[in-house]
Amino acid sequence: MSGEQNQYDLICIGGGSGGIATARRAAAHGARCAVVESARLGGTCVNVGCVPKKVMWQAAHAAEVMERAGDYGFSGVSPRLDWSALVAARDAYIQRLNGIYDRNLGNSGVDTIRGHARFVDPHTVEVNGERYRAERFVIATGGVPGRPGIPGGDLGIDSDGFFEMADRPEKVAVVGAGYIAVELAGVLHQLGSDVQLVVRRERPLRDFDEAIQNAYVDAIGQHGPTLVNHFTPVGLEAAWGGYALHAEDGRSLEGLDQVIWAVGRIPNTDGLGLDAAGVRMSGQGTIPVDDWQASSQPHIFALGDVTDNPYPLTPVAIAAGRRLADRLWGGQSDRRLEYRDVPTVVFTHPPIGTVGLTEADARARYGDAVRVYQTGFVPMDFALSPAEAKQRSTMKLVCVGEEERVVGIHLFGVGSDEMLQGFAVALRMGATKRDLDDTVAIHPTSAEELVTMT
Ligand SMILES: Cc1cc2nc3c(=O)[nH]c(=O)nc-3n(C[C@H](O)[C@H](O)[C@H](O)COP(=O)(O)OP(=O)(O)OC[C@H]3O[C@@H](n4cnc5c(N)ncnc54)[C@H](O)[C@@H]3O)c2cc1C
Repeated sequence: MSGEQNQYDLICIGGGSGGIATARRAAAHGARCAVVESARLGGTCVNVGCVPKKVMWQAAHAAEVMERAGDYGFSGVSPRLDWSALVAARDAYIQRLNGIYDRNLGNSGVDTIRGHARFVDPHTVEVNGERYRAERFVIATGGVPGRPGIPGGDLGIDSDGFFEMADRPEKVAVVGAGYIAVELAGVLHQLGSDVQLVVRRERPLRDFDEAIQNAYVDAIGQHGPTLVNHFTPVGLEAAWGGYALHAEDGRSLEGLDQVIWAVGRIPNTDGLGLDAAGVRMSGQGTIPVDDWQASSQPHIFALGDVTDNPYPLTPVAIAAGRRLADRLWGGQSDRRLEYRDVPTVVFTHPPIGTVGLTEADARARYGDAVRVYQTGFVPMDFALSPAEAKQRSTMKLVCVGEEERVVGIHLFGVGSDEMLQGFAVALRMGATKRDLDDTVAIHPTSAEELVTMT
């Protein structure tokens, strides 16, 4: 049996967004904590998710701005991207973040245990042959990219592989309809690749408000990437002149340098020994939890992407973890994360911002009590651009009841990413349309449209 130094109040399995946040907050409340991490600290977000993705988006955004420089009288702006320089700078930045996460854990008094954790009984995990016991556990092991089980599927790469690409592919198919697919497709398109965004149904982003889906499809129809819809991949082969991606209906996309699968993520419970811990899993491989993040084993909690959390996002994993620690060690007995009205941004070009109910969800819930305000306009960023280069913005407010409480805000357009956070606060506080109308506009901005809609 391990010594006393291997005995903790809390062990978090997974040193990603959720695990680190939980352990640090619990330690701040005086708990003796450890985080077990089998790969790089920071998890998906820092290493193969939000952070490198946003760096790539920033690069793509810079390209976009340079494209428009001529509209403002600049000449001689003809950028040429050095992909490997971009990747090297991005990876160096991430390495610095890995170091910062490591130091922050140490400074918070949290032990870091390197290796893969496996439960051997409900209060003990084994890591590299060593056993560690804890009164409570948090499972925050996240997810990994999924792939379609079709012949040749392994010839493609996934979002992890996207961040390992040593060169920019000239011609690429990105397969998937969710936010990761549209983001990766947008970045590559903006950085100069010929990109086909391949979806099985009519269009991508089907969980988003219809206004956003339409605006996005219109925008890519005008500027790219190319949407290939009703395309169900059944095989990928390496052919003369590049990969060929075959569809169920006989169509093929040929001459591809790369195929990127962005077809969903799989909860990461591999080799975790959940049986030994007595933790139940769902049919989808997630760890079901109650409103307090508890698994079927009351002293073992789970949060973030490994659960059936409807918002697989970093701040959601962090918020769930911090609230859990506040409740268990901070004396805040009713503290928990409510999984509603979570604002989220999709880093397309231009970006999408959304919080609250879509119009369809609101109508399903509130029927005729729903009132919608919507506007479309060309933001000033494109005031001097030729007609064919102008990107339109779309904004929609979904309101409910006599008082027109705002229950949904949906944005597509330049600046939506930075605009949404404050409006999400207003929505959570129960703002009405009248509250928005009574707020004096900031001019000239895109955001002012949200307080001047009629
Ligand atoms: C391409 C991409 C872009 C994204 N962009 C955004 C974005 O812009 N904004 C946003 O909010 N979210 C984004 N996300 C989602 C975000 O990264 C996740 O929601 C978040 O990282 C989930 O945190 P987590 O703590 O649940 O798991 P993770 O951050 O995935 O951490 C889990 C950690 O557990 C470790 N682990 C697993 N099993 C074991 C084990 N048995 N023993 C020890 N360690 C183990 C893993 O190595 C990993 O480091 C993106 C994701 C991807 C893939």
